Amino acid sequence: MEFFKFQHLNEYPEKVIEEVITYDNLMRTRKLSIILFFLNFIYLFIDHLNRAKGLWIINDGYHYLFYSHIILSLVTLLYILVFKRIIVPSPNEITFSHKSYVILFSFFILSFTAVMSGWIDQKIHGQITVYIIGCMAIAVIFNYNFKVTALLYGSSCAALMIFLTISQNDPNIRQGNYINASLIVIISYFISTLLYKLKQQNLRHNYCLEDLVTERTKELQAANDSLSREISERKRAEIEMVKLDRLNLIGEMAASISHEVRNPMTTVKGFLQLLKKKQDPKDKEFFDLMIEELDRANSILSEFLSISSTKPTIFELHNLNDIVTATLPLIQADAQNNDTVLTVELNNVPDLQLDIQEIRQLLLNLVRNGFEAMPQGGQLKIRTFSSKSEVVLVVSDGGIGIEQCLLEKLGTPFFTTKEQGTGLGLAVCYGIASRHNGRISVETSPKGTTFYVYFELS
Ligand code: ADP
Ligand code: MG
Repeated sequence: MEFFKFQHLNEYPEKVIEEVITYDNLMRTRKLSIILFFLNFIYLFIDHLNRAKGLWIINDGYHYLFYSHIILSLVTLLYILVFKRIIVPSPNEITFSHKSYVILFSFFILSFTAVMSGWIDQKIHGQITVYIIGCMAIAVIFNYNFKVTALLYGSSCAALMIFLTISQNDPNIRQGNYINASLIVIISYFISTLLYKLKQQNLRHNYCLEDLVTERTKELQAANDSLSREISERKRAEIEMVKLDRLNLIGEMAASISHEVRNPMTTVKGFLQLLKKKQDPKDKEFFDLMIEELDRANSILSEFLSISSTKPTIFELHNLNDIVTATLPLIQADAQNNDTVLTVELNNVPDLQLDIQEIRQLLLNLVRNGFEAMPQGGQLKIRTFSSKSEVVLVVSDGGIGIEQCLLEKLGTPFFTTKEQGTGLGLAVCYGIASRHNGRISVETSPKGTTFYVYFELS
């Protein structure tokens, strides 16, 4: 991994770096041309003073000095005008013509100062100051690669030497100037290439940093994501725990109370049946009603009781498909009454430690809810399948679905949206699933609901 990172950082395209450098050069050319253009007015003013003093007649060098200033004005003005047309918003739009255009400007400046020093300055002052300034300015302001730098300084130095030889009559001064010019060119070349290298390195370093920052940001993002996933997982587990706790508490209450309630209820029912025989036939229906209500209360109590394991769960090795098949006749009868099409898809699943009665109960409760969600009929599907680590029982209906805000209440005892509902069916299912070390998940939409019951393969 480290090896790759290293390679990746080093292989940053040289082309991009070159483009950035040229872009910077272009911007500087623009500024320098404007500065030189306005500076030229001062030179022209000095030329005017020289003329007034009569220097132009004494020394023809002053003529040439004036013409050279005119040339400088024209060239810088040309650059200013062209720059009005060239607009380069970013380095990656730099073209070859931009590059040539910038190099040409430096070439002009260097040649210009070479001619000034080698030819005109020899006539007036006998020095090479202008060339020194030109070389230093180009070396410091612009960054060119080694080849271009060599070409620029080489050509300007040659021009300087030629004009020196032509114009300087004093052999001592000429020789001194040869030496000075050579030194200047060498020093400028080194300064220029050194600055170019530094600039390159600086850019490379910046890109590396940018890369590193992006990479680190990505890593942080990933860590953050996994952390938030973990947190929501934990929250879900906590909610589940609270639900199970509640189930346990209710189960214990149910276990202790139901006994006390059921016994007197049985007694009352017995007496009601006795009394019913002795009463007028017209009152009989009241007794029937009372007995029916008692039966209903009793069945609610039974369901309530089965939330917790008051009777011990009997785990034996069974196949889930067998239990489903054995329960099918009951479900099919219900389906017919309900105008529902029942589809069953039982895939091969391995045997599991299951309590037959409880799994039947679980299946029936889920199926019953499915039927109740489709009062006008529809399709109900029971499916089993297994993955590497789990066996899954799926019950899906084409009913009305469950509102999102009610989802987390599912399985809470007595939570119901039905007029005649007890709100115990799902609580029982959750209890059974948890005793089987399994879990239940729900997918729902206005087109229907699917309950998944997962049993872990140990
Ligand atoms: P009950 O069926 O007595 O209302 P349950 O515990 O079985 O109690 O279900 C609780 C509630 O969950 C139901 O009242 C219903 O709102 C919702 N519900 C359960 N299963 C489904 C389903 N298949 N489709 C739509 N709603 C459902
Ligand atoms: Mg129900």
